[in-house]
Amino acid sequence: MFAFPPAPVVTVPVEGGSRFPVRRIFCVGRNYADHAAEMGHDTREPPFFFSKPSDAVVPSGSSIPYPPATADLHYEGELVVAIGPGAGVFGFAAGNDLTRRDLQAEAKAARRPWDMAKGFDNSAVIGTIRPGALPDGLLVTTVEGVERQRSALSMMIWSVPEIIGHLSQLVNLAPGDLIYTGTPAGVGALQRGQTCTVTIEGLEPATVTFL
Ligand code: MN
Repeated sequence: MFAFPPAPVVTVPVEGGSRFPVRRIFCVGRNYADHAAEMGHDTREPPFFFSKPSDAVVPSGSSIPYPPATADLHYEGELVVAIGPGAGVFGFAAGNDLTRRDLQAEAKAARRPWDMAKGFDNSAVIGTIRPGALPDGLLVTTVEGVERQRSALSMMIWSVPEIIGHLSQLVNLAPGDLIYTGTPAGVGALQRGQTCTVTIEGLEPATVTFL
């Protein structure tokens, strides 16, 4: 007997009409050399991970409030891996790892956790999941139709199998887990009223508009 009604299961649409039930959201930091460099880091360190709560998911096409407690909300266009039964790859989606960059900078300076910079409400934008093969084309992020990020997915420092290998040494990946695989160079700020779209060849775009 629940003391009160449990929160509904968070889901993401899957091509073909079913829904992917989300369990956890993991994110890779600094997985493109050009983005690591723009953030002032060297590119040879092993991958590291942070997470977002599952209910941070925002389906593509949503309009969401500009988040509280920030004056520097950034987009990060990313390929998302969806983990399915047997902890294997279920499919892929385009995603946007929304970041309160000012809070992240404060956390870094104080050697504090990134949770409030990364894991806030409505911080995990995701498009429809496509089951099947790993995309290998271009990732492009636009703001108000103006291109801000463009990279081949092949420019990742750590490939999808390598990311899964590293993460699997830290946690038991399970069906429903999502992995945001890092963003290329060109991150920048979003303003109220703007629409940001992450496009990956072969996948549905992930679009969000800020109220
Ligand atoms: Mn990211």
